[in-house]
Amino acid sequence: MRLEDSLGRPLRDLRISVTDRCNFRCDYCMPREHFDSKYEFLPKEKIISYEEIIMIVKSILPLGLKKVRITGGEPLIRKDISKLIKMIRELDDELDIAMTTNGVLLRRNIQQLKESGLDRVTVSLDSLDNDLFKEITDSNYGVEDVLDGIEAAIEAGIEVKINSVIKRNLNENQLVPLIEKSIIYNVPIRFIEFMDVGSTNSWNLDSVITGSEMRKIIQNKFGPVIQKNSNYYGEVAKQWIIVDKKYEMGFIESISSPFCGSCTRARISSNGHFFTCLFSEKGNDLLSLIRMEAEISDVSQAVTKIWKNRNDKYSEERKDATKERIPVEMSYIGG
Ligand code: SAM
Ligand code: SF4
Ligand code: SF4
Repeated sequence: MRLEDSLGRPLRDLRISVTDRCNFRCDYCMPREHFDSKYEFLPKEKIISYEEIIMIVKSILPLGLKKVRITGGEPLIRKDISKLIKMIRELDDELDIAMTTNGVLLRRNIQQLKESGLDRVTVSLDSLDNDLFKEITDSNYGVEDVLDGIEAAIEAGIEVKINSVIKRNLNENQLVPLIEKSIIYNVPIRFIEFMDVGSTNSWNLDSVITGSEMRKIIQNKFGPVIQKNSNYYGEVAKQWIIVDKKYEMGFIESISSPFCGSCTRARISSNGHFFTCLFSEKGNDLLSLIRMEAEISDVSQAVTKIWKNRNDKYSEERKDATKERIPVEMSYIGG
């Protein structure tokens, strides 16, 4: 059955946040002044278990699900994460299974992840300058730890992408070095506009550097860039090519060029709530339903009902928003 929402968008992608915790404190996501020792992370009993995740994936597969992305928080700090990948893989050989990670624990996990059936990994890296990296991530790790993770994934033969959030007056000077490094690695990079997710990252429009501004900086160094047609319906990143280098890169322009019209993504937060938009204020508590001994068909019915009513297009409406919103945090809902 192909399920569509009220704007005709199918449900194809599911992002699952397996933990709301992280070993980084990126200033745009989990700033330490909020996520400090007093911050109340979810207690263990409220975190969705692997078996419960499987129930949800099973219930959505017949509705047209094609892609699952494991995220967080930092997914690699969840115990036995490869076990979850294996359990998902056993449900469907064709399902595209990906993970987004900060990369520092990748080397020690990559072989098991691959053997469990992970297809792809996206590693977040916003700076190649170690001081700036430390300033952004506020962690005990360095650039070399992330690069080591990326290299481990390349060596293991897993498809790798790099994600970089670029913020004005912070790391736009990293655009060129990040591209140069990605060309050496022969992996695609995607530049992400700083988004107003959550309510703790002090977002303001002045700190957003748009995709088009980023491309000007890139052109100044590498020469002309041209836009490519999108590869498939619902592709989030707009693809551009550096002509002289024949190098393809993506731009996720949620602020300057929203893509809600073809948004096929649903999210499961680390406490098992189902969200139909990254900017939602509230999710639907599937975990309680499951813990009340619901069958897979009950979960499937609940998701169908929620998705059919879905009319989210926050990024398109952002400019006209009159109401103050308190969207949930990215680390909890899953980036
Ligand atoms: N910890 C993992 C990581 O950093 O890759 C996975 C979770 S993280 C929330 C997923 C992605 O969201 C990362 O690529 C991160 O850079 C991005 N992200 C977090 N906060 C953001 C924001 N305010 N604007 C844009 N992207 C953001
Ligand atoms: Fe952690 Fe990822 Fe958020 Fe950085 S972006 S704080 S690594 S969850
Ligand atoms: Fe999808 Fe919501 Fe983002 Fe629009 S704002 S692209 S509906 S997640």
